[in-house]
Amino acid sequence: MNMAAWLARAGRARADLPALVREGTVVATYSRFAENAARLASALRGPLGLAPGDRVAIVAKNSPHYLDVLYAIWWAGLAAVPVNAKLHAAEIGWILENCGARLAFAGSGQDAEIGAYAPDTLREIVTIDGPLYRRMLEAEPVPPATCAPDDLAWLFYTSGTTGRPKGAMLSHRNLMAMSLAYLSDVDPTSPGDTLLHAAPMSHGSGLYAMAHVARFGVNAVTASGGFEPAEVFDEIARTPGLSMFAAPTMIKRLTDHPGETPVGNIRTIIWGGAPMHVADAIRAIDRFGPRFAQIYGQGETPMTTTVLSKADIADRDNPRWRERLGSAGIANSAVEVRIDGVGGAPGVSGEILVRGDTVMRGYWGNPQATAETIREGWLHTGDVGAFDADGYLTLMDRSKDVIISGGTNVYPREVEEVLLAHPQVHEVSVIGRPDPEWGESIVAYYAGDAEPSALDALCLERIARFKRPKAYVRVEALPKNNYGKILKTDLREMDRRAHADSGEETQQ
Ligand code: AMP
Repeated sequence: MNMAAWLARAGRARADLPALVREGTVVATYSRFAENAARLASALRGPLGLAPGDRVAIVAKNSPHYLDVLYAIWWAGLAAVPVNAKLHAAEIGWILENCGARLAFAGSGQDAEIGAYAPDTLREIVTIDGPLYRRMLEAEPVPPATCAPDDLAWLFYTSGTTGRPKGAMLSHRNLMAMSLAYLSDVDPTSPGDTLLHAAPMSHGSGLYAMAHVARFGVNAVTASGGFEPAEVFDEIARTPGLSMFAAPTMIKRLTDHPGETPVGNIRTIIWGGAPMHVADAIRAIDRFGPRFAQIYGQGETPMTTTVLSKADIADRDNPRWRERLGSAGIANSAVEVRIDGVGGAPGVSGEILVRGDTVMRGYWGNPQATAETIREGWLHTGDVGAFDADGYLTLMDRSKDVIISGGTNVYPREVEEVLLAHPQVHEVSVIGRPDPEWGESIVAYYAGDAEPSALDALCLERIARFKRPKAYVRVEALPKNNYGKILKTDLREMDRRAHADSGEETQQ
């Protein structure tokens, strides 16, 4: 099945329902949305001469046109490569070359910039809403192309927290399973419900769009196309039944925002993509009510591997409520999840493995990485976690981030949770520093005004002595990638250099 079939169906059966909205104004009904996709697809396959399976990149900030383009690519039987528009043009050029993109749709800010790095395979850069784009919208509409379930639909470049990004090959089958699991486990959706894209459509937020097309919901974008708490508050105020995806840092900013908004209009705020400190989750719930769900997933098996449902998050009287908030919930309906070597044995940690219809076909052009990652049908996520007796999964860390000090594993996240409980710590990341005696010693980098001695006292109060950082380093901010994820690899490198230069420049 072609993912565009849901749009074709909506275009006929719910022609007049609003489909795409910007700043509260309907820019396309379902019939217009489907027609735009059919016309753009016609131009892609006709005058622009693309053939089934060709890769077409999208390098643009969020806008209603983003979805016109994404669906047009599927409608034409092509594969979409949504690229994070915040990357450097050279990084975008690398992705375009790696996937052999034939054509790129680009926002008006990005077109000239990526032109300078365009690989030879790229025949055309179409500026979204530019003259060529508008001519394409005059092409004769065509019916959606026929696709096999395993045809490539979305080449999802990982955010590259280590080394070069890899292209996870997601098929139409993957996207369909993901969307149905979203509707059953994360956020049941009705016609007219709205998904606000305040996070990049090139990543998780864009993946949720499909579930909303399946259920005849509305996909909405902010005026800026990005995330500003004031803007999100305005969107909530004018949109009953609003859902959105927000990374933990975004939730923190919403919670701290001084304005008022009618929280009853919020259907669901979904957090995920990075760990959320339990205290921050509780502050958010206190401010906005139990209108949250958490997902844990990765580009290789989007978007959900496990889900902490709205019902779990609302179940405040449950004696295990806090513990549950610190977990990532239970396996979603489309997959099996187990811990390497131990299956589902409670309390035993190991690498998290996933099998099911959301698991990618492999990495684009990288059979070696594919063979290392998918073994005997199980995706090796590189994340370490443990199930409890009720089947709730707690994530420890990325396996490569685990610190081995004196032969004992220390999970940075556990130490970070403790340090974040200090009111004057804004962000923190705990890493291992090579140590001749211990193998690795534990170092905490943090931003905020807290004194190292206060942090040390907090650790002594709450965790085993061997997990206590040997050094605390205060910094202005921690290194992050374009999705706001802290880059431990860069931090380790920073630490290595600082340590080599001055021997010791930490505050103990
Ligand atoms: P990406 O493929 O860029 O979405 O990154 C996926 C990675 O983010 C996962 O492998 C996890 O390490 C991390 N991650 C995703 N969701 C969560 C979550 N709910 N809690 C903690 N870490 C998460």
